[in-house]
Order: sequence, then structure tokens, then C-alpha cells
Amino acid sequence: MTEQYVLAIDQGTTSSRAIVFKHNGTIHSSGQLEHDQIFPRAGWVEHNPEQIWNNVREAVGLALTRGNLTHDDIAAVGITNQRETAVVWDRNTGKPVYNAIVWQDTRTQKIVDELGGEEGADKYKAIVGLPLATYFSGPKVKWILDNVEGAREAAERGDLMFGNTDSWVLWNMTGGTEGGVHLTDVTNASRTMLMNIDSLTWNEDIAKDMGIPMSMLPEIRSSSEVYGTGRARGMVPGVPIAGILGDQQAATFGQACFEKGTAKNTYGTGNFMLLNTGTEPVHSKNGLLTTVCYKIGDAPQVYALEGSIAVTGSLIQWMSDNLGMFEEAKDVEYYASKVDDNGGAYFVPAFSGLFAPYWRPDARGALVGLTRFVNKNHIARAALEATAFQTREVLDAMNADSGVDLTELKVDGGMVANELLMQFQADILDVDVVRPQVAETTALGAAYAAGIAVGFWNGEQDVIDNWAEDKRWSSTMESSERDRQYRLWKKAVSKTLDWVD
Ligand code: ADP
Repeated sequence: MTEQYVLAIDQGTTSSRAIVFKHNGTIHSSGQLEHDQIFPRAGWVEHNPEQIWNNVREAVGLALTRGNLTHDDIAAVGITNQRETAVVWDRNTGKPVYNAIVWQDTRTQKIVDELGGEEGADKYKAIVGLPLATYFSGPKVKWILDNVEGAREAAERGDLMFGNTDSWVLWNMTGGTEGGVHLTDVTNASRTMLMNIDSLTWNEDIAKDMGIPMSMLPEIRSSSEVYGTGRARGMVPGVPIAGILGDQQAATFGQACFEKGTAKNTYGTGNFMLLNTGTEPVHSKNGLLTTVCYKIGDAPQVYALEGSIAVTGSLIQWMSDNLGMFEEAKDVEYYASKVDDNGGAYFVPAFSGLFAPYWRPDARGALVGLTRFVNKNHIARAALEATAFQTREVLDAMNADSGVDLTELKVDGGMVANELLMQFQADILDVDVVRPQVAETTALGAAYAAGIAVGFWNGEQDVIDNWAEDKRWSSTMESSERDRQYRLWKKAVSKTLDWVD
């Protein structure tokens, strides 16, 4: 084989990245472009799909140029993406009919309440593994069809396509209106509320309840197989596109969590902990989601329990952008390190309601425990601690559901550069926190899925062999202090509930 590299496209919430990986799983070169966060109203979050597609192309160009490579050097392309974010476009023109509605967007609350009716949020849970919530793609598609002029008629004529951003990028990469393939993988499909979690097929009854014509839905495929090749006039002509994993599942794969009972936690815009539960889906009794973790070609699918937290890194971003408290997100560590503790302040960032384990759309953010003593440094610290406390809540739920206590947690994502947070995380969990050498595990997981499909890597053992530890944090906190702080956190959470009228 002459190709020495695999390219991963990571279409994330804040940016699109292209990363070229070497056979040993390290980074050769990369490119990254941020896209606009569009907030038309309180609770609404949109992205421009055309800007995203342009950024993906430019990021791929940057990664290849910086690496002094051409498409001939690339064995395969893998795609990973922000999940649940819904794009609806016209198959004839290739134009989106509306901006992408982002996973954090809460505009579909009324739709969700109506769909649940008397049965409430758990109406479809046994079928799809998810509670009815604004988070997932299906209700967002319904909103577009209900609210964009002419969209429902066009959908019923068979002119519209839906996809999470993986499908949007793949369709464009493989030719768009000139023969683009319209499909998705099992992990993305498992975030729509439209897929049967056992059979991995679309559920026609739920699609009907949401008024979504079946013709809009992408074909569901495994996470690792050749879906198509790059279009002739594109950046990677003829190169097989051979892996798709939703971002959190990709990180789980990249972290080599292949054994039942292994888990990772990703600290990005939000936090997402996934626990591999093996080849049978486990239904949570503690507010976790049942989701597909990955499916490699014809092998049986592997499931995960997931604890999704809506706001972690984005709280730091908000303090920087909206409050002007620091220049950049990473500066939060400088301020937080100036104090020994939070000074009594607890910050619950329930900006999109609370996700796992509460699923309370009626919650809103609160900063409590304030006195004249509290200064900017305490608040910076409280904001970081919020990430660690929310993670503790999810880990407790995982332990309760699985009946086995986790002994270590593999971590990744933008926030794990923050050493103060990592130490506090180990303190508040009383579990070792382990950071790998390659922190770009999301892109890496998608690269592995694609590379395995074309024989560039032999299989999961290669992923395990390439994984290497960078740093480990262990708890240094007294258990009485841990319990005290966690109790106060829980009290702070109780103040945020039932806020929305
Ligand atoms: P995503 O993939 O969700 O777009 P990333 O994994 O790139 O996000 O992480 C970016 C998030 O992490 C941002 O919300 C930012 O505020 C936060 N972040 C980045 N660096 C730090 C840091 N050193 N300390 C705390 N938060 C950080």
C-alpha cells in the first residue's frame, strides 16, 4: 500500500477540523476553521450548513497542504460530527431549506410536549433508548417542516433530505446533486429518536407521529465500511470515505473503550460520558441514554450508556464572550488558580435546561452562595467546578445502572488541557482521571473506523496498541470534604429547577 495516512473530518459544534493521522495514530497535519454560532432568539442555536461545508473543504485543503500531501497519500477518509444537529436540504438544488438546528437548541419544547402527550417523556424510550427531549434531531426536523414555507409540500414530493452533519458532509463530498450518497451510520441514527435501538432500522410509526416522510431519511449503515468515494472535482477525488461515527462515539472508539465496562468522558462545549455495555442495549433507570456505540462492518453492534451534559466548556466560553471575564477560555485556569476554593459560590449552568441525569427543560442557570467575599477568581473556579460536579452526577448514574463502580476514567476534549479542572475532577470523583497522549480522540476514532474498513489498520487491537497514557490524576481530597462540596452542589441544582413558567 502506498498510502501512508488516513484523513479524519471532525465537524464539531464550534469548528470543523481536518486531521491527517499516521499509521501509529499520531497527528501528521491538520486544519481548522470556526463557524458562526447563530442565536436568533433566546434558546435558539443555528449553524449555516453551507458555511460548514465550505469550512470542511478549506480545512481539508489546509491539512493536506500543511502536511505536504495530495489525495494520493490518503488511504481513506473518516467523518465524525456534532450529533443531533439537523440539516434539511433540497436534493435537486443542494440548498438547505433552513439553517442547521443545533443540538443545544430548545425551540422544540412545545413539539416535544405535544408528542409525549399523556405518556410523557418516556413515550418512545423502550423503542429508541431516548427520552423525548429537544436535544434530538427528529423534533427539529418536524419544526422545519412545520415552519419553513413550502417545506412540508417539498418533503412530501420527495424533494427534501434530512441528515445530521455527517450526512450533509458525506452527500456533498461524494458529489451532491451529481450523485452524492445519502446515508448515515448507526450511531448518528441512534440520536434522531427515529431509529429502533434493537434492529437499527427506522421506525415508521414514530416518523409518522412527527410527520416526517420516510423518503427524507438517510440509509442506515455500519460505522466502518466504504460508503462512497470523493467526487472527481473535490479535495479527495476517488478516495474511499469509509468511516462515520457521531463525535462522542468516535471519541469512545479512539480511546480504545472496546471492553464492556470501559468508559470515557469528553470535555468540550458540553460533556459526554459513554460506558461500553457490550452487544446488548441496557435501558437506564437513572437518566442515561441508551445509544449505539459503534458497529464495525458486519460485526454485531456495540451499545453504550451515555450521560450527556449540555453546558460545560461553553460556560467558560460564555463568561469570556458574554461577560468579558477573560480574553480566552484557557485564561480561566489562571484566575481559578489564584484562590484555594470557590469561596462558597456554586454555578449551575442550566442554560439549555438540565440534561443527564435530570432531563429538566424547565431549569435555568444560577450562581448561588454569593457573599461580599466572592470575587472573580472564585467565580472562575466555580465555573470549572461545575463541569466536575456535573460529571460526578453522571458517573454516579452509570455506576447505579451498571452495578459496577468505574475505577478509572479516560478523558479527552478541549477542557482537559486544564490541569486544575482535571485534579478537581479526580478529587470529586475519587476515581483516577487519565489523559491520553493524543487528545484529539474524536478525530482519531473516525480515522480508525475508516482505516479499519480499508485494511489500513487490522482492527481494534491496533487501536489498543497505539493508545498511550499522557498523565494521570488521583484524588487528594478528604472524603468528608468531597461529600460536603457535593451536597452543596446538589442544593445549588435544586435552586435551578422549575424556573421556566
Ligand atoms: P467542541 O468539539 O465541542 O467544539 P472542544 O473539545 O474544542 O469543543 O472544546 C472547546 C471548549 O472547551 C470550549 O467551550 C472552551 O470554552 C473550552 N475550553 C478550551 N480550553 C479550555 C481550558 N484551558 N480551560 C477551560 N475550558 C477550556
